Amino acid sequence: MKPTEVDVLIIGAGPAGSTAAALLRQQGFQLLVVEKQVFPRFVIGESLLPHSMDLLREAGLLEAIQARGFMQKFGALFLRGNQACGFDFSDQFTSGWQYAYQVPRADFDLALADAVEARGVPVLYGRQVTAVEFRDGRACAAIEQPGKAIDNVRARFVLDCSGYGRVLPRLLSLEEPTRFPTREALFTHVTHDRRPLGREEGKIWVCIHPDGAWIWIIPFSNGKTSVGVVATPEFFRHYPAEPQAQLRAALMSDPNAGARLANVQFAFPPQRISGYACAVKKLFGPQFALVGNATEFLDPIFSSGVTLALASASRAAQVLTRHLRGQPVDWQTEYSDFVMQGINTFRACVNAWYDTSLHDVFFAAHRDPDIMKQLCSVLAGYVWDRNNPCVSQLERVLPLLARIVQGRDRK
Ligand SMILES: Cc1cc2nc3c(=O)[nH]c(=O)nc-3n(C[C@H](O)[C@H](O)[C@H](O)COP(=O)(O)OP(=O)(O)OC[C@H]3O[C@@H](n4cnc5c(N)ncnc54)[C@H](O)[C@@H]3O)c2cc1C
Repeated sequence: MKPTEVDVLIIGAGPAGSTAAALLRQQGFQLLVVEKQVFPRFVIGESLLPHSMDLLREAGLLEAIQARGFMQKFGALFLRGNQACGFDFSDQFTSGWQYAYQVPRADFDLALADAVEARGVPVLYGRQVTAVEFRDGRACAAIEQPGKAIDNVRARFVLDCSGYGRVLPRLLSLEEPTRFPTREALFTHVTHDRRPLGREEGKIWVCIHPDGAWIWIIPFSNGKTSVGVVATPEFFRHYPAEPQAQLRAALMSDPNAGARLANVQFAFPPQRISGYACAVKKLFGPQFALVGNATEFLDPIFSSGVTLALASASRAAQVLTRHLRGQPVDWQTEYSDFVMQGINTFRACVNAWYDTSLHDVFFAAHRDPDIMKQLCSVLAGYVWDRNNPCVSQLERVLPLLARIVQGRDRK
């Protein structure tokens, strides 16, 4: 059978794939999105950052999301014992969105993919890309559906938006070991948590557990709340082996999570993901680019994954539009360097979180309001705003800040 011919094959219909598809469709390209699973499907990664709103609007997808009535997230509250550090997105350095959404991803990803399909982009569900060859200036991909003959697609370009599937990093041996130690997340959705009221209701809580884990609490508008514990495998060994008992015991052993979640019921048996951090050697090749989680995934602590997925999809679509029109593009500076700027800013924060210097800054007795605004914009996802010293000089600024507050607090 003659292969289907398209301009761009997009592997995966998560946030990265749908956003890239929406933007490339606006430019009139022929696309095919291939998605391994059948939507709606559960996936973790439910707390968005305000910058994601800019990116959804640019792709013409914001209305579809706003129509779903998701919980508005006005900020984040970090808790350690009896200490609290709140960020409200109305109080930021960068002028941008003052809220984002907390989204059950089954609904969010379906809403995005439906909006893309409604614009005439074919989305093939329940099929997976199993092989890609690059020859004669074209990418030739094999698409498999269980029990059916293999379909072949020829594309001028492939965007790998396959997230944890990591299709091209695996097929092209682009994977690189990550420098992060192995951490695990154990999580579920619950009902009947004790929520704060009003503007505070939708904020994400991050509770620092006395034994070095941290816990997320992400409230949804459907009455459910996502809860998860992130720690080294060693931490979990101190709790019952059975996952439900393990998760409950870990949650209850933190004073803040324990008080909020004392009476919760689990909506489904806890799931565990281990060793999710990943990295790659490069983000592009002559006829492909990696987008979203198929690039590098650091850590869930700052809820950066979906925002980075949308930002990389947006940038990939811009550069690819010119590439396909025969205009000169420099994928290294225009795409890779841009994506890595976002990833590296969050990397500095993640490192400072786990070496606990960021805790010192967050829970200092005397916090500088200007610095807190700058950090708030980083936590809002505005990690390309180089006017923000906490973006342009973060690796230098964070240790300095930690030393200053440590000195002050000792006095
Ligand atoms: C424990 C944990 C908590 C997290 N919490 C947050 C959070 O609060 N906020 C946040 O922003 N991010 C969070 N993340 C990160 C977030 O999950 C990802 O960054 C985000 O889902 C990336 O989107 P994506 O579109 O790149 O990939 P995905 O959402 O993974 O989508 C990729 C799609 O590709 C499909 N696919 C895979 N292989 C193939 C194939 N061979 N053929 C066809 N299709 C394929 C998959 O089925 C999937 O639907 C968290 C991650 C972890 C591990």
